[in-house]
Amino acid sequence: MNILVINCGSSSLKFQLINSESEGVLAKGLCERIGIDGKLTYQPEGGEKTTSDKAMPTHTEAIQFVIDALTDEKTGVVKSLDEINAVGHRVVHGGEKFARINACRELMPGVPMVAVFDTAFHQTMPSKAYMYGLPYEYYEKYKVRRYGFHGTSHSFVSKRVAELVGKAYDETKTIVCHLGNGASICAVENGKSVDTSMGLTPLEGLVMGTRSGDIDPAIMEFLAKKENLDIAGLMNVLNKKSGVYGLSNNLSSDFRDLSEAAADGNEIAELALDVFAYRVAKYVGSYTAAMNGVDNIVFTAGIGENSAIVRTMVCKYLGYLGIEIDEELNGKRGQEIIISTPESKVKVLVVPTNGELAIARETVALV
Ligand code: ADP
Repeated sequence: MNILVINCGSSSLKFQLINSESEGVLAKGLCERIGIDGKLTYQPEGGEKTTSDKAMPTHTEAIQFVIDALTDEKTGVVKSLDEINAVGHRVVHGGEKFARINACRELMPGVPMVAVFDTAFHQTMPSKAYMYGLPYEYYEKYKVRRYGFHGTSHSFVSKRVAELVGKAYDETKTIVCHLGNGASICAVENGKSVDTSMGLTPLEGLVMGTRSGDIDPAIMEFLAKKENLDIAGLMNVLNKKSGVYGLSNNLSSDFRDLSEAAADGNEIAELALDVFAYRVAKYVGSYTAAMNGVDNIVFTAGIGENSAIVRTMVCKYLGYLGIEIDEELNGKRGQEIIISTPESKVKVLVVPTNGELAIARETVALV
């Protein structure tokens, strides 16, 4: 089967056409600046990457350009829409994104549309993990609870860990550190998510690229008064101006910049990295407690896969778990690898995440 995987943002649309038998990517690309002007980047397997300006007032035009590119006589990878068997849509949290799925369905009549929710993997969390210490009526009335995100990644990576260490998935305790611009940690016990660091929204938990993660909620009132901010203004600060970006005095949200600056002796960049790694280590500690132990800790996503420094900083806090890292192995990049020493009591791994493939697999399983 050929599965078109679509990952829609408010002004962007990433896509991959994946063959489910070979799990190979037949073509991939990106529509950007939807609603502004429009730009399509497209690359068929083994072919050249091209970028062209296209008018994309809405996501409907963007999806049409994707279909045109995939079925193009010269650069296309399928002859017609008939060779696309299903579409898997990444859905972060429902709501307006369904409109885009409807747009896609209109352009591809008869092709099954599958919505893969970022929150789905975390539905196994026990109520003690997902309930907030808030009045119960808000849960009853509005379903205010912790949902968690990055579910397809946590599921994909934790499964892969079990394979790599040669243990049954339903008999392992794994902590997944998905450290990207958005970052979350998940405790996966016997194949099920039992706790995760993001909550009702992706703002909770770790210190991220630009998001604050956990803070004292009373800071909101304090800053509202001091800075004369309303709720929207405060949310903007917490989502877009905080995290390592805000902490580093707006130096950067990118860990490459921060690591470079820290290596050059920039103390505020060093502080931002320290705060980030310390928070990750604290969550690892609490999830070890939640599962009454841990067999594997795995790093994934942009920072988790690429930043040896961050992995070293986090693991330095975990000596009490009997963890030992082989720094030579930790220095390798872009591959699945066990970076702990054979003596280490807990295995530490790096596993590149592949959200698109995870969505394609779930789509195939459903259709
Ligand atoms: P998201 O999907 O949340 O946008 P990614 O998983 O793509 O995030 O991660 C992006 C982040 O990964 C960048 O902001 C950057 O901080 C980090 N990153 C990417 N490459 C490297 C690298 N070579 N070294 C350190 N950090 C990196």
